[in-house]
Amino acid sequence: TAELRDITVAVVREKEQPFTIEKARIRGPQDDEVLVRVVATGLCHTDLIVRDQYYPVPLPAVLGHEGAGIVEALGPGVKDLKVGDHVVLTYGACGHCNPCSGGHGAYCKDFFGLNFGGGARDGSTAIQDPDGKPLHDHFFAQSSFATYALSRENNAIKVPDDAPIELLGPLGCGIQTGAGAVINSLKVTAGSSFASFGAGAVGLSAVMAARVAGATTIIAIDVVPSRLELAKELGATHVINSREVDVVDAVREITGGGANFALESTGRPDVLAQGIEALGGLGVIGVVGAPKLGTKAEFDVNNLLLGGRSIRGIVEGDSVPKVFIPQLVQLYQQGRFPFDKLVKFYPLDQINQAAEDSTRGVTLKPILTIG
Ligand code: NAD
Ligand code: ZN
Repeated sequence: TAELRDITVAVVREKEQPFTIEKARIRGPQDDEVLVRVVATGLCHTDLIVRDQYYPVPLPAVLGHEGAGIVEALGPGVKDLKVGDHVVLTYGACGHCNPCSGGHGAYCKDFFGLNFGGGARDGSTAIQDPDGKPLHDHFFAQSSFATYALSRENNAIKVPDDAPIELLGPLGCGIQTGAGAVINSLKVTAGSSFASFGAGAVGLSAVMAARVAGATTIIAIDVVPSRLELAKELGATHVINSREVDVVDAVREITGGGANFALESTGRPDVLAQGIEALGGLGVIGVVGAPKLGTKAEFDVNNLLLGGRSIRGIVEGDSVPKVFIPQLVQLYQQGRFPFDKLVKFYPLDQINQAAEDSTRGVTLKPILTIG
């Protein structure tokens, strides 16, 4: 394990600056770690808000948190995974605090440290530049904008060999977040109404999941017309361009008084306020969109109280990845969760183009092909 392996990585060196493609070295797996040859990695909006330092991950850093690949080497403490297994890398959780023990790893007491700490919990990094200077890593317990990535066994999720591994990385974050918010957190019911505020990768995953769950009114809201068109293909019964109409009135009209369930995935406090207003009595809105730390939202307290409405924050769709990711793969293979329609592939060295296309609304879910 003292051996260092040559790798290629995409690095963020400074706030709001482009990714740079660099040579680097990574150590071998220790303890319960696995070394994964990365085949492809999704680019999630969260990579970009960390590049821009909404969340203070120390720089220079190797980001990337929707990795998919093949297990190349095992640490001595690995129990179940084998070399050659196909895996999707997901978020890190300690596995033994109270929330983890209760099946809620997304609320692990050490979630921020394990996913945004910029290194192992002892402060060391596994990746160094060619001069031997450490590069911050362990991003979402993986740092998968790289040809090889280290994860722990508990966040490397085995998936079937016959599923297209190059497609599956986004199941580790953005897609499991939208789908899990609907299925695991909000528990959207058959025959109900659901409004997705935001029709990006997360919001459209929520739309597909609402169809799987049996919602009969599914409303997608965005400001980009092409995303609303795709939403219709993926199961939205109604779409609203919130630049053109009053979205609260429109949702109330479509649902006959307000939605049973809603999800906010734009990361905008004004949209969260609209989402609360657009709920019907006893309606629930989940919040997954991530603004800058310290962002405040404003809404009429009595509107929440008098209708018995609720707001809840959601991380990673409350999923137990070992259970939920294989379920999503199966839904995809049955044609009931066609998330491949969100995807566009780019080679790793086109990462800045992928980021720009995502920001401009041209590409929903970029996947960087690596190996
Ligand atoms: P995205 O950029 O693809 O989607 C955001 C969408 O919001 C875009 O389609 C955009 O056009 C739309 N939008 C912007 N302004 C709007 C407005 N005023 N009204 C309606 N729609 C508007 O991003 P994504 O990858 O889908 O991620 C969504 C958010 O979720 C991000 O903030 C990301 O950081 C966060 N996220 C959270 C978790 C979690 O665990 N909570 C996990 C993954 C991503
Ligand atoms: Zn993400």
